[in-house]
Amino acid sequence: MTALNTIPTTWTFAALAVVLLATGCAGRSGAPDRAPAFTAEGFNGHVQVLASDEFEGRRPASAGEEKTVAYLEQQFRAWGLQPGTPAGFRQPVPFLELTALPADELRVAGPRGELVLRYGDDAVYWTTRPVREVALEASELVFVGYGIVEPQYGWNDYAGIDMRGKTAVILVNDPGFATGDPELFKGRAMTYHGRWTYKFEEASRQGAAGAIIVHEEEPAAYPWEVVRNGAVKPQLLIDEPGRDGYRIAVEGWVTRGSAERLFAAAGLDFETQKREAAVRGFRAVPLELRASTSVRNAIRRATSSNVVAVLPGRERPDEFVLYTAHWDHFGRALAFGGDAVFNGAIDNATGTAALLELAQAFSAVRPRPERSVLFVAFTGEEYGLLGSEYFAAHPTVPLASVAGGVNMDGLYLAGRTHDLTVFGIGSSELEDSLRESAARQGRVLRPEPTPEKGYYYRSDHFNLARRGVPMLYVKSGIDVVGKGETYGRQWAADYVAQRYHKPSDEFDPTWDVSGVLEDLALYFDVGYRLARDTAFPAWYPGNEFRPIREQSRAAAAAK
Ligand SMILES: [Zn+2]
Repeated sequence: MTALNTIPTTWTFAALAVVLLATGCAGRSGAPDRAPAFTAEGFNGHVQVLASDEFEGRRPASAGEEKTVAYLEQQFRAWGLQPGTPAGFRQPVPFLELTALPADELRVAGPRGELVLRYGDDAVYWTTRPVREVALEASELVFVGYGIVEPQYGWNDYAGIDMRGKTAVILVNDPGFATGDPELFKGRAMTYHGRWTYKFEEASRQGAAGAIIVHEEEPAAYPWEVVRNGAVKPQLLIDEPGRDGYRIAVEGWVTRGSAERLFAAAGLDFETQKREAAVRGFRAVPLELRASTSVRNAIRRATSSNVVAVLPGRERPDEFVLYTAHWDHFGRALAFGGDAVFNGAIDNATGTAALLELAQAFSAVRPRPERSVLFVAFTGEEYGLLGSEYFAAHPTVPLASVAGGVNMDGLYLAGRTHDLTVFGIGSSELEDSLRESAARQGRVLRPEPTPEKGYYYRSDHFNLARRGVPMLYVKSGIDVVGKGETYGRQWAADYVAQRYHKPSDEFDPTWDVSGVLEDLALYFDVGYRLARDTAFPAWYPGNEFRPIREQSRAAAAAK
């Protein structure tokens, strides 16, 4: 028996309560007359189209984008949803597209001679400056440990060192992860300081000319191939005055093997230095090596689109419940291995298909919710959460009027689960409602099994959350019905190892979508009840985003 079969008793009662209340605020128990029936055909149908070779991997500002966006528009329109902007369903997002041309090798000169790192196999590097060519000329290498400056933790890897003109060599993740010491940072859970984006941002703040991260598979959470493919895909930046997307001259990664050779060239042992970098009071180590290379870009200006659709609320159309998923992926693999298509079936045709299925369900549900429901398919997630950043900076509705949202990215296809993984659990009151919805399905919430991977900072909800909007990022858990946790963990690990950000992330007709269908019912239930509610869920006390939300809600109330 599926959990859905157990629901009607509760829901009939709730529906009766709604009838008795007759009008106005339905309260938390607001349930539809009939729960939507999500089907494998419906869900798979969208995934199959979006992940087809014909859609060319859905790269922003490509022919694949046009097909994708047209498909989304057509679906939203067919269900009677309204365009989310005055100009239509598309919110144009201006991009600068930088494509790294094959770079020179990285030559490192030291007292013991010259070391040459080959582009691609040993190291990858690029510039995110909107220029055709940048060179690194005999830039002094400095090992800066984890490259973190965080006064809260009393940590400063750049203390006493002037980085101007120099190149930082940086470890990935953070000292808490490396040592497993719960007293350091957040222990094994990754902090934002562990993310590669942070490393480059900090090196930039220090005025460095270059920044090179040492790739290690476990703390990075993905294999070298992901880094290498990432380096040759076109980079997108939001093309808008005042945005400082233009960082250090040369950014990149080296393999662990290359790092060992680098340290050996400096007369040092990589492992020993790495251990010392995790000890409080670590001081940056000048390596007495000088790096030179040059990188080149092809540059073009391009426009991509977020797709925004709205189902107006019948009582309070100026309040919103938000569903989001990114439609974009990497396009074609032009370098390193032919012209394969990055189909991005799981990442994120599944989330986009879920967005469409939810839009259809909401368009048909009765009673129609009091609040409006906003559906946004973001562009440019794979290039640094760009579409969501643009949307959050230029929202089509005031962010203070968004009661809460659900982001869907990379749904799990291991089958039905007894549990749900909540990324960044313990954040907001939306989780109270989520827990209720999960309980109706006989499921429980659990924290992400691998908080060290920092997934909370790696999808679009983050750009809304950091502007105060409570957002859920939830997927099927790991305790698979009839198969257990080992199977669930294995499924997730296989996905990351075999398919994540690779051309092999393709639609598979043998997928077990039973878990996804339950997830859809859950996403619907949480959003529907919020869309019938009058409350604005708060961030839990102590959450970093709570003060921002309190300010924006207060400002909205004062109007
Ligand atoms: Zn992705």
